[in-house]
Formats: sequence, C-alpha cells, structure tokens
Amino acid sequence: MEDFGVSYERRRLVLLKIVNFGRIIKPLIFIEAGIHAREWVAPAQALFIIHQLLEVPDNKELIEKVDWIVIPLVNPDGYEYSHSVDRMWRKNRAKGKTCDGVDLNRNFDFHWSQHGSSDYECSSTYAGVSAFSEPESLALSAVIKRYASRTKLYLSIHTAEQCILFPWGYTMEVAENDLELRQLASLVARKVYNISKVEYKVGTSAQTLNIVSGSSRDWAYGVCNISLAFTIELEAHLNTRHCDRFIMPPRKINKVVSEMFEGIKVFYTFIKDKYSVH
Ligand SMILES: [Zn+2]
Repeated sequence: MEDFGVSYERRRLVLLKIVNFGRIIKPLIFIEAGIHAREWVAPAQALFIIHQLLEVPDNKELIEKVDWIVIPLVNPDGYEYSHSVDRMWRKNRAKGKTCDGVDLNRNFDFHWSQHGSSDYECSSTYAGVSAFSEPESLALSAVIKRYASRTKLYLSIHTAEQCILFPWGYTMEVAENDLELRQLASLVARKVYNISKVEYKVGTSAQTLNIVSGSSRDWAYGVCNISLAFTIELEAHLNTRHCDRFIMPPRKINKVVSEMFEGIKVFYTFIKDKYSVH
C-alpha cells in the first residue's frame, strides 16, 4: 500500500500495488474507483477485486501473470461528504466562490472544459478553474503517468449506468482501435450476462451515454497511450435514470460486484494472452 497524494481536505490518497517481483516485467492492469462521491458501489467493487486477488487461492494465476494497481477511492472528501451531509454529492470538496466542488472526472487535461462539462461552479459537472486544478486529479494523473508504459489495461469504475464504455468521451468519433475496444467490452458484457442475465450496454462513451470532456479514461488513452481504456458503469439499482439508482440495498452489493469480477477475469485473460511473456 502506498500514498500517492493528499486530498483537498488533507485525507490520504491510497493505492494498492499487487506486484510479483521477478526478472520479467509483467503487463499491468490499472484500476481506479470512487472518483464520483455518491457512486458507493464503485469503491466496493475495487475492494472486492483486491480481496479476490489476495485472498482467494483460485485466483492465484491472476497475480502471477499480471501486476495490478488498484485505487479504491480517488475522492475521499466527497465520499465522506456523501455519507455525512448530502447522499447525492458527486464532486470533490474544494471551496468555491458560490458553490463548492469540482467534478474530478472533468478536470483532466485532455480536451478540458469542452462539451459535456460545465464552467459553472454550481454545476455537478463543473470542470474547475483549470485542468488539473484539483489535488486528487493531479495526483491520480501522476500515478497513471508513472506506470503508463507498463499499463496494458486501464479501468475507471463508476455506477450506475450499467454499461462498459471506451473512448472517446469528448467526441462522437470512434477511436483508432475501436474494433478491439468494442470486441473486448462485448466479451466482458457477454460473460456477465451469461452468469447474471444482467445486460451491460457496450459502446463509446459519447455515443452510448453522452459527450464528456476531461475524463480520466480519455486522458489515460489519449495522453498516456494506454490503448485499452474502459469505464465500467456498474449495474443500476431499479433500472432507473433517477438518483435512486445510486442507492443499492446492501444485500445486493455482493451480487453486483462478484458478477462483475467474472468480467474482470475476462479482461485479465485478454491482457495475459496478448502481453505476458510465456
Ligand atoms: Zn461516475
């Protein structure tokens, strides 16, 4: 476990590195969760992945062939605030002039503050005064960059739109390796559907949900050249577009995250087959 920065309210930003040191440099899977405060099941998914990798003997191969970096909570201040004050809080807790908080997933320095983000401080998708104005997004970008040359898969975990998204978010255009991104996302979605009958949509971020600029995923893909970069939007509770989709009954959480872990294994197999030295 390693600190990679401190939040606006001086909470620790923590990552977990699961690496097996050896002579061979292994491909790395990078996972971040909890960049949006109210999406509570996302950090739960990250913790579930960590538990499976470290505690379940059947998953031993997953950490032998591939290295992992998992960041369970990018936005600890917002997460805390969503517990203590406002359950539907999304941004970080940076003090503003009229309203507080910046949407960290609109604050990355790639097509920053274009379509799909707001320059209005009180908006829940406020992009900030400048790219990387926030300690959390800046610290996350530094870790992504540090490991970029080894990172073969980047996953940003969110809730609750029930889809697997890939670049681009900032434009309706498709990415250079659209076919590969689409095929891999479809494999994952099919696996999850087969065990759960829960249907995850697959597509580019902009075409499937809406245009979004300044996201961590677009930045990892577009600036750090991590060619397999996805956003996992976990299962929606009650299948609504209302805010109650974020509020999942505790008894359902284990089902959702364990089903998606089967999808994570599909991602892993793809990365291992494509990149690891046999
Ligand atoms: Zn989100």
